[in-house]
Amino acid sequence: ETLDKGLEITKTTFFSKLTKAVAGKSKVDDEVLDNLEEVLISSDVGVATTLKIIERIEKRVAQDKYLGTEELNEILREEIASLLAETNTGNDSEFIVPSTTKPYVIMVVGVNGVGKTTTIGKLAHQFKNAGYKVVLGAADTFRAAAIDQLQIWADRVGVPIVKQQMGSDPASVAFDTLQSAVSQNADVVIIDTAGRLHNKLGLMNELSKVKRVMQKVVEDAPHDVLLVLDGSTGQNAFEQAKQFTAATEVTSLAVTKLDGTAKGGVVIGISDQFQVPVKYIGVGEGIKDLQVFNKFEFVDSFFN
Ligand code: GDP
Repeated sequence: ETLDKGLEITKTTFFSKLTKAVAGKSKVDDEVLDNLEEVLISSDVGVATTLKIIERIEKRVAQDKYLGTEELNEILREEIASLLAETNTGNDSEFIVPSTTKPYVIMVVGVNGVGKTTTIGKLAHQFKNAGYKVVLGAADTFRAAAIDQLQIWADRVGVPIVKQQMGSDPASVAFDTLQSAVSQNADVVIIDTAGRLHNKLGLMNELSKVKRVMQKVVEDAPHDVLLVLDGSTGQNAFEQAKQFTAATEVTSLAVTKLDGTAKGGVVIGISDQFQVPVKYIGVGEGIKDLQVFNKFEFVDSFFN
């Protein structure tokens, strides 16, 4: 229900475009496919993924000889779902971490303003509700505001936070956080890191140092490198995904602010293009407005 609401703008915009794309046409022909291509690209699915989807539909047109435009919705929905399923395998309904890994360490990356702190706060809330003992680490030490904001979320959720002064070494904060988490027998650690995209080498060095130092405490940490992207920025989100995946091994994505945008298509394009699963989506500013990404629900809310 919240998902439907969260994606309302994407959905209405997409549908009005789709309706125009097939207006006056009974059969899916080259013109309809061209229009559809435009619809997908303008919905921020991205060029490469759009072409992939169009190709798949072309194949079906060729196979079935005749494809009515009234069937296009259903076919598009099937193809998008199967595309998402290629990357988004596994858990897609609950906030859970593997019971065999303790503490489970999530390193969160992303540029300022994308909703990184909010996402960490919402995640902490969900994990705590699920019965996990959660510890936060404020290793985005570049801005005082980042540390303060995370403290506010820690207080709101009611979980401990490890922090140092602004400007301190992010790796040192990460180290302290893991030590504290181990001594408290915590289940989940969420570490806020690198809020700025300086040059690629700088980012790479900073993140790999944080990882290296973490591994002195928890050998196989981090277990998840979660990149937070602002879904409402469309092509910017693609660009950030490109830079972060080049700088470090990103293992999952959180796409935020899908509630206020018509650009929900980024979710499809980004997970396809970077072959990284979307784990969470943000659909509002409230503490509960984070969902585990469910590919089928996502496609359904797009098309229903
Ligand atoms: P950070 O700089 O990346 O840590 O960004 P913040 O977490 O401080 O978020 C920036 C702004 O985006 C805040 O006003 C948040 O309330 C807002 N925000 C974060 N996630 C969402 C979301 O899913 N939907 C909406 N509408 N706003 C969001």
